[in-house]
Amino acid sequence: MRIAVVNNEKGSSVTIRNRFLTAIEGTEVVYDEKNPDMIVSIGGDGTLLEAFHRYVDRLDKVRFIGIHTGHLGFYTDWQVEELEDFIPFLLNDSGESISYPLLEVRLAHEDGKVEKMIALNEATIRRIEGTMTGEVFIKEDKFELFKGDGLCISTPTGSTGLNKSLGGAVVHPRLDTLQMTEIASLNNRVYRTLSSPLLIAGDEWFHVRLDDAYLEGVMMTLDHLNFSLKGVRDIEFRLAKERVHFARYRHMHFWNRVETAFIGWKE
Ligand code: NAP
Repeated sequence: MRIAVVNNEKGSSVTIRNRFLTAIEGTEVVYDEKNPDMIVSIGGDGTLLEAFHRYVDRLDKVRFIGIHTGHLGFYTDWQVEELEDFIPFLLNDSGESISYPLLEVRLAHEDGKVEKMIALNEATIRRIEGTMTGEVFIKEDKFELFKGDGLCISTPTGSTGLNKSLGGAVVHPRLDTLQMTEIASLNNRVYRTLSSPLLIAGDEWFHVRLDDAYLEGVMMTLDHLNFSLKGVRDIEFRLAKERVHFARYRHMHFWNRVETAFIGWKE
């Protein structure tokens, strides 16, 4: 097995990284940052997002696994104090994995070029200078005229992130769906939006056509990344053909994870 480690710079993550690399010395697991088939993320869910984007071009070849240096995360199955339990699983790996849906974003540039990118949690489009205006289509059909701060389109695993803070539903990651939530929509006699989170079927997609008059200053976030959408008018959001694969050595019940993260009555 060829392995790469991505960790955040917190003291405990660096210590765990060193302990982990020492533990795999002399085993059949080799360290290979360029062509790994397993990525070990040490830190939080944010670190896993960073690892995901670093290896986004190898999604069909890699599995991810997360060791959390804080509380248990949504993408991190193992806690720091479980490192010694985790290593034998890794050394005896026989390809156990679970996969989750991803979001593909297609940006249509003015020069006709279509740029594709992938998100693990969500993508948002937002306008910083004033409100954002655009038509929202579901597949080819116009659905609504949106005016407001922005829109968030999330994956099932991303549904517990920003989506949840925007009032979106928590979605089981076995469902192949995307969810759109609004960021401060303006509703009056001219502009009318659904004003509630919306989940589409796996073979449907969202298309946003930004209004010419409001093109300047629109930003896109893709998980923890952000950039300007200068020169882009049409944006499509669909389920990606690619999926993300996680090494899964023990079953973690999704709703237990949600309870632990957000309710915590069992503690
Ligand atoms: P950040 O401030 O580094 O992280 C925000 C928090 O979101 C962290 O506590 C992170 O967990 C947690 N998180 C990340 N993915 C999650 C998921 N799928 N489910 C539940 N919690 C999750 O934010 P950032 O670097 O700008 O953006 C990274 C992600 O954080 C975004 O993709 C977005 O989903 C989320 N976020 C949420 C809000 C909000 O709820 N208002 C705002 C900004 C970003 P760890 O501590 O384990 O890393």
